[in-house]
Amino acid sequence: MTEATDNVENLIIIGSGPAGLTAAVYSARANLKPLMIEGEEAGGQLMLTTDVENFPGFHNGITGPDLISVTRKQAERFGTRFITQNVTKVDFSSRPFKIYIGEKLHLAQTVIISTGANAKWLNIPSEKQYISRGVSSCATCDAAFFRNVEVAIVGGGDTAMEEANFLTRFASKVYVIHRSESFKASKIMLDRSRENPKIEFIMDTVVEEILGDGKSVSGVKLKSTKTGALSEKAVQGLFIAIGHTPNTKLFKNILDMNEIGYLKTKPGTTYTNIPGVFAAGDVQDSVYRQAITAAGTGCMASLDAERWMEAEGL
Ligand code: NDP
Repeated sequence: MTEATDNVENLIIIGSGPAGLTAAVYSARANLKPLMIEGEEAGGQLMLTTDVENFPGFHNGITGPDLISVTRKQAERFGTRFITQNVTKVDFSSRPFKIYIGEKLHLAQTVIISTGANAKWLNIPSEKQYISRGVSSCATCDAAFFRNVEVAIVGGGDTAMEEANFLTRFASKVYVIHRSESFKASKIMLDRSRENPKIEFIMDTVVEEILGDGKSVSGVKLKSTKTGALSEKAVQGLFIAIGHTPNTKLFKNILDMNEIGYLKTKPGTTYTNIPGVFAAGDVQDSVYRQAITAAGTGCMASLDAERWMEAEGL
């Protein structure tokens, strides 16, 4: 049975990366007393990041987890309350909005969605078996485990280029395996990888299978997308850098999304198609996807929510 509640929150923020936490700082300072449902894997993608050198205000850089930790403390200082669980269902069909954590119901006048995005996987049968045993989606997190060995990275975008370069700080050799002959990566990032003597490109090729003894990776089976020819490459690590999927399953058939699943917001605002429900950060941004842009839209969402409540006389 669902637990009933009479308590209607002003604002519930779902998701606790830089977007959600910035929304929490702003709305708590505006005295909205926000409730943040931060999720069981609180902090989002920054928790998988080592050095963040491009977040303004930290001239010596800061680690992703430290950036999350200080921003969370800042939100807490002004009265944000946190629940470290996952939302399991939402009902935005009437107001107040209903947000469920299992059987527990929370009601809110406004909602900010900042559930972020997750890395994509190849989804080949052997992949799952080797995740964290040689297969990783985060070079910045795991590169140091691959000192003086050969590794490969899959992808042809900026992420793959950036991570390939980062991997060369540790690995003796990095193969970039890309399925086509053109790159999504920007020229500057691509050139940097091409100029790196430790990086070798394997073009028009996909990974068919990850090879190993079940405990660690010893190589990859490759297939040419042009000729279908099979080959093997001995590597001890495989990094997957093929893009991200927004975390929007909860909102399917409820909120407007694009074909990939990113929430649609009214241009220049954080308004979704449901008045009173706002979206910020990577969950609605497939283009910039930076911590600072997520934080910026988190600020916008808080101001949008505050002004909307005022206009509604709430
Ligand atoms: P992208 O979508 O840009 O690139 C994904 C790459 O993965 C493409 O080359 C794609 O190949 C390949 N790919 C996708 N699915 C598969 C698959 N199943 N098997 C094999 N290959 C696959 O994602 P990124 O994460 O690289 O970048 C996302 C955004 O973030 C971009 O806008 C990028 O500019 C930005 N970014 C910026 C950085 C910076 O400026 N410092 C750093 C990192 C990211 P194909 O081309 O054939 O489709």
